[in-house]
Amino acid sequence: MKVLVAVKRVVDYNVKVRVKADNSGVDLANVKMSMNPFCEIAVEEAVRLKEKGVASEIVVVSVGPATAQEQLRTALALGADRAILVETADELNSLAVAKALKAVVDKEQPQLVILGKQAIDSDNNQTGQMLAALTGFAQGTFASKVEVAGDKVNVTREIDGGLQTVALNLPAIVTTDLRLNEPRYASLPNIMKAKKKPLETVTPDALGVSLASTNKTLKVEAPAARSAGIKVKSVAELVEKLKNEAKVI
Ligand code: AMP
Repeated sequence: MKVLVAVKRVVDYNVKVRVKADNSGVDLANVKMSMNPFCEIAVEEAVRLKEKGVASEIVVVSVGPATAQEQLRTALALGADRAILVETADELNSLAVAKALKAVVDKEQPQLVILGKQAIDSDNNQTGQMLAALTGFAQGTFASKVEVAGDKVNVTREIDGGLQTVALNLPAIVTTDLRLNEPRYASLPNIMKAKKKPLETVTPDALGVSLASTNKTLKVEAPAARSAGIKVKSVAELVEKLKNEAKVI
């Protein structure tokens, strides 16, 4: 079974992002970039399926600038077999990414496509769902357990107040939640080996898709700075302040 995993290059989760002075976006100059954490979980799940003998090949794909090759190489070091970069310098919205991924799905014909549930930069939580709509594949979002059984995949989903398990006909789309697995670190020998694994670069034109955005970011703002807290001397004073100053009780 071929597994396709979508990985996104994002600002590293440890970085405290700065908004550009003109409020046009986030300042990316000299900022550490990494693989989106939910995509790391997606790669790990695919690697575990391969180790179990369920997956035969893992193809990783990213849509974005040439620098996204770094994240694809990381995925190769973690155990993916080959990589595809759909190279574009355009600002992408989720539908554009989903269209590019649909073209790769048409070409590669995977049985399972694994994406993160959410990219930590845009917080969109919709690319997997859009890809499911474009391909017509079954979808299991927010997965905390994935079990392939014959021509089906059982996905346990994290939903409000509990878990739901759904059986999806293959081919299917799965998006990963935090508790699905704990991703491994790439070992040095595997990082070296990954340099020799195939990484193909294609243009959106060659795939026959237009990634023109239908959205324009008007303004990006940092959250309002929090004012300093105060110390109260007693519970009575706390209750008095909550009642009369904060007016929350
Ligand atoms: P989002 O819907 O933007 O929150 O992203 C959800 C998931 O879609 C990510 O975790 C990735 O698996 C995938 N994805 C989003 N953008 C890209 C991209 N530019 N290239 C590859 N995969 C992406």
